[in-house]
Amino acid sequence: MAFKKIALVTGANRGIGFEIVRQLAIRGVRVYLAARSKGKGLAAAEKLRSQGLDVEFIVLDVSNRQSILQAFREFSEKETKLDILINNAAILIDRGSVLTLDQETLQTTMVTNVYGPLQMIQTFHPLIPKGGRIINISSGSGSLTEMNGYAPAYSISKTTLNALTRLASIELNERGVAVNSMCPGWVRTDMGGEMAPRSIEQGADTAVWLALDAPSHLTGRFFRDRAEIPW
Ligand code: NDP
Repeated sequence: MAFKKIALVTGANRGIGFEIVRQLAIRGVRVYLAARSKGKGLAAAEKLRSQGLDVEFIVLDVSNRQSILQAFREFSEKETKLDILINNAAILIDRGSVLTLDQETLQTTMVTNVYGPLQMIQTFHPLIPKGGRIINISSGSGSLTEMNGYAPAYSISKTTLNALTRLASIELNERGVAVNSMCPGWVRTDMGGEMAPRSIEQGADTAVWLALDAPSHLTGRFFRDRAEIPW
């Protein structure tokens, strides 16, 4: 299996990240299931391995620079390339008005939702070969055309993540690496809640499509349901 594709998905012990790992592994990819909790991550990886899937666990807290560097060292000892990086880990901790949004809430949200993906790209990009793909799991609430004011810190973080997608796509395009954002839609996870209309399988679909099936010239774009949406 010398030509097996290798992927890493952050925040993958539950929710959409876990499902992306599962779907990629079913398609024959070796997937590193990254999670900040060793116990939860190992249990999640074991669940998929028991189904015969090629899934490895790696501890990785995206809000901690040392953790990212340690994960990179560990990953590099086992693999020489990373074909697919999926920045999925995120938090949603605010509800309410931008007029009363406090700096600490915004800062905490930015550390996980933006600085995390930024440092992941900065650290792992040397291992991503030509034809490799980076997918940032964003949200329609980060789109300037869809914002609803419901969770301002979260929205600002996802808008900034989209800006990061554009900037990284310009530089990495020279090396033939595609970088895209996607919105999973409103999905029934711990974050989305049980009223959400979409299943976790539906939520993961476009990310897996971008990772394995989308034409390689598509880069620097924002998708939902396998179609481009406005920033
Ligand atoms: P969940 O809250 O269900 O899961 C979030 C995952 O991220 C968990 O595994 C959590 O780990 C992990 N995580 C949080 N902080 C960190 C960190 N510092 N380091 C590593 N992992 C971390 O979220 P969803 O599955 O619903 O969301 C996945 C992605 O989809 C997110 O980017 C989200 O913004 C986006 N999204 C989701 C929508 C929805 O309706 N669900 C809608 C639009 C976008 P732990 O278990 O340790 O807490």
